[in-house]
Amino acid sequence: MRQYSQMSASTITTMHCGGNIARLFEPETKDQLRALLAEFDDFIMLGGGSNMIFEDALISSPVIRLGKGFDTVSRSKENVCCGAALLTSRLLNYCEEHGLSGLEFLAWIPGTVGGALFMNAGTAQRGIMDEVIDIEVMDKEGTRYIPRSDLNYGYRTGGFSPDTVITGARFAMKSAPREQIFAAVESFRKKRRDQPSGYSCGSVFKNPPHTSAGQLIEQAGMKGFAIGGAKVSQEHANFIINDGTATATDILDLIRTIKNNVRERFGIELVEEVRIIGKRL
Ligand SMILES: Cc1cc2nc3c(=O)[nH]c(=O)nc-3n(C[C@H](O)[C@H](O)[C@H](O)COP(=O)(O)OP(=O)(O)OC[C@H]3O[C@@H](n4cnc5c(N)ncnc54)[C@H](O)[C@@H]3O)c2cc1C
Repeated sequence: MRQYSQMSASTITTMHCGGNIARLFEPETKDQLRALLAEFDDFIMLGGGSNMIFEDALISSPVIRLGKGFDTVSRSKENVCCGAALLTSRLLNYCEEHGLSGLEFLAWIPGTVGGALFMNAGTAQRGIMDEVIDIEVMDKEGTRYIPRSDLNYGYRTGGFSPDTVITGARFAMKSAPREQIFAAVESFRKKRRDQPSGYSCGSVFKNPPHTSAGQLIEQAGMKGFAIGGAKVSQEHANFIINDGTATATDILDLIRTIKNNVRERFGIELVEEVRIIGKRL
């Protein structure tokens, strides 16, 4: 098992900010993970870090990022089984190669399968949880399988309790011509290619019912508004871009300012999609 100490959160998150993580563990087998779960009652799961902001302080809770042994993918007829550390881009490549359709909407969403399931990543209409049969999780008692029907999943939530460790999942796919899958993937890629570039965590806020967070922020006049090195994107107001110098404090202050402005202007409370570790807004 790899172990790191004093790892800067800026090197393991796409937002590129935050303090040092005192202890980062990377179990490569289920036995190693089991030993960690037996040792710690309180820990933070990290996937690809594309939807997490760690505060500017020493993160003393142990952080667990699943290693090589969880980076697996295989198929049985039309079902695909994979480990939670597999990148969603690799899952999608595998499905394309094997002519298996159903997850094309994940194209260009960064991160791992574990993070995607926890967040129910996808589009406004569809999330990865819609395609899953069951999810493998581990706790102090051991490994178990949760059928999708037992989870209260929804828009940007897989319905898992915060201490769940997702270790793998099984997806129900449908055979389809590879060209058809490739064309669907390309159409999602094209849409996402227009997203702002630079260090970000994707959409910062969930869309409130019947409206778009980006539009509300834009109508509140906040496009281009900056605090320190953190700026509301000119291209898509629900993205905050770190110019490379932003601290987590800059970003959290900007999030707070956006929420205040949107609340004052429209009476709507924006809710963060991004997971903030260590600091309450
Ligand atoms: C440029 C950009 C574009 C994006 N576009 C989209 C989009 O179109 N749609 C969308 O839904 N999201 C989008 N995102 C957000 C993000 O990519 C997704 O939420 C992604 O699925 C998170 O995966 P991750 O592995 O990086 O998770 P992380 O950010 O590492 O973690 C996210 C959450 O999942 C938990 N977690 C991670 N792994 C596990 C595990 N194994 N077991 C239990 N809990 C775990 C973490 O504790 C955390 O709470 C975008 C992000 C970026 C940077």
